[in-house]
Amino acid sequence: MQILIGAVFAAVLALAGSLSFKHATQATPALLTPDMNAAHTIGDDLGARFDRFSQSFSHRDAVRPKLIALTFDDGPYPMYTPLLLDELRTLHVKATFFLIGRDAEQWPELTRRIQEDGNEIADHTYSHPDLDHESVAQVQEEVLHGRNALLKFASEPSIRDLMRPPHGRYTLQTLEAVQRLNYEVVLWTDDPGDWRTVTPAEIEAHMYRYATTPEIALLHSGKLPTIQALPQIVARFRAAGYTFVTAGELIRRTTPYALNHAARTPLSS
Ligand SMILES: [Zn+2]
Repeated sequence: MQILIGAVFAAVLALAGSLSFKHATQATPALLTPDMNAAHTIGDDLGARFDRFSQSFSHRDAVRPKLIALTFDDGPYPMYTPLLLDELRTLHVKATFFLIGRDAEQWPELTRRIQEDGNEIADHTYSHPDLDHESVAQVQEEVLHGRNALLKFASEPSIRDLMRPPHGRYTLQTLEAVQRLNYEVVLWTDDPGDWRTVTPAEIEAHMYRYATTPEIALLHSGKLPTIQALPQIVARFRAAGYTFVTAGELIRRTTPYALNHAARTPLSS
């Protein structure tokens, strides 16, 4: 009897573990495609861990290209987004903008300009809720409403392909709801924390120290220190042999495994 109770207890724990909330500051995974097993990708139960362990053998020779994608969440915003776009244009960098549908509707010209400059646009929901608190129907409604808002002003294919949950908050249920809409969920390999009050030097230092190959950097559209740090960051990564690409191009040029197991490659000072 005790053994039975123990087994039931262990099963409940395993289930609770796989359903529990993930705030992806550790960013696992960086990418979830529609055909990946979400439970095995984020779960802590034995089956999930075994699956990840066995994958590490079959992907032993994974190629990790020296590519970096700068991704900017939120907005567009009237003052900082144009400044950011000017800087990216000067630096000849194309970036990925995860736009909020509601903000895009408020600033249609900015949304158009992001695309005209050759940047990639992707879905960051309509009203930026914490998706880990929403039902499956609400998650899908937020993503589709966001998509439709963006498609009024832009035609970037990634609006239908790539999404990022606000604040990186999701549950297994969130991921599966988004997968069913055929979206790739894009998180990041490094979060320099520019959503906090940090200086340009702090953003730079974090990015050099936690650089990965390949890299998806989480940045934000409405932050002056981020814009100020960009020239140095771009120069430094280029000097280290990196090529700047959009998130979509990075995903096409590598594999989900290589991205989810990016190599830590700190840049020397
Ligand atoms: Zn956001």
